[in-house]
Amino acid sequence: MHDVLIIGAGPAGLSAALWCDELGLDTLLLEQGTEMGGQLLSVYNPVGNYLGVRAANGRELRDIFAKQIDAGEFDLWTEVEIESADLRAKRITLRSGEQVQAISIIIATGVRRRRLDVPGEAELKGRGVFESAMRDRDLLAGKDVCIIGGGDAAAENALLLAEVCPTVTVVHRGKSLRARREFTERLGTDHRVTVFTEATVRRIIGEEKVEAVEILRAGAIKPFQMAVGGVLVRIGVEPNTELFRDQVHIDERGYIVVTGEQETSIGNVFAVGDVSNPLAPTISGATGAGATAAKIIASRLSQGNQGRGEQEG
Ligand SMILES: Cc1cc2nc3c(=O)[nH]c(=O)nc-3n(C[C@H](O)[C@H](O)[C@H](O)COP(=O)(O)OP(=O)(O)OC[C@H]3O[C@@H](n4cnc5c(N)ncnc54)[C@H](O)[C@@H]3O)c2cc1C
Repeated sequence: MHDVLIIGAGPAGLSAALWCDELGLDTLLLEQGTEMGGQLLSVYNPVGNYLGVRAANGRELRDIFAKQIDAGEFDLWTEVEIESADLRAKRITLRSGEQVQAISIIIATGVRRRRLDVPGEAELKGRGVFESAMRDRDLLAGKDVCIIGGGDAAAENALLLAEVCPTVTVVHRGKSLRARREFTERLGTDHRVTVFTEATVRRIIGEEKVEAVEILRAGAIKPFQMAVGGVLVRIGVEPNTELFRDQVHIDERGYIVVTGEQETSIGNVFAVGDVSNPLAPTISGATGAGATAAKIIASRLSQGNQGRGEQEG
């Protein structure tokens, strides 16, 4: 039995763990990945908006966090597979069969990139279906590229690739791009960029590597194929809440609803960071929310509101 179980070692979970440790709480942090950091590990741009630090990329910022975290006294288990979570009992069952239990749980599972879920996407991953224009720019240079999505990420990636690719086609299912005006204006004047709105990619085609995409435009009866050498899917993110959905209140998009104290609809179960913050997901927001949850838990324990071993109903 621990004081606190934290699920997810991104900025929110790490901050919560650091604070719990400092406040003298017996803490266990569970991470499914091989290393801590969450989305920071896929930030390839400089991070200059986190107060106190300027980092060349997310990994560098993660390394700064890790130095502080490694000095902590709490346990961090990586490559953990959670089979189920009984939030009322504050009990987590791992795929290995092992069970861990705590007085309070902090959910910090963040978000993941939404997949297109079309044939070819998974099969050709890394063989023409790429993760990041920034990271994979050298591999994509010289290729005709298709970017799927209409928000800031899609537009930013399109502009980045238009510098090194002969053609960049943006395919967006909405009537107009949702990206900020600065991006859409630049896309509109770049002769290498074509934007198809009200269109969907139905299939990514290729044997050994990506060769084409199949696009269906609104009003058309038949899709057409367009030869491309690279594809990027940028259609937003979705919260990692599958384990908890039938237990706590979630909103229509699947995000966990919390109080100002970061508490979910179940007492002493908290949710922090992007998983409960659909509107303004940031590293600062995540670390702040982690700190809030830790301080609330510590103050409740010190006031004896929830004794060790006592279960919330
Ligand atoms: C390309 C990119 C650029 C960005 N740039 C900036 C920026 O400049 N400034 C800024 O403030 N923000 C930026 N962000 C957003 C920022 O990275 C996120 O807001 C922040 O990482 C959220 O932290 P989090 O801990 O809530 O979630 P995450 O970082 O998503 O971490 C969640 C962790 O939980 C783990 N997890 C999930 N499910 C389970 C499970 N079942 N069991 C165990 N572990 C689990 C995941 O593996 C992950 O490690 C950027 C994001 C991206 C993708």
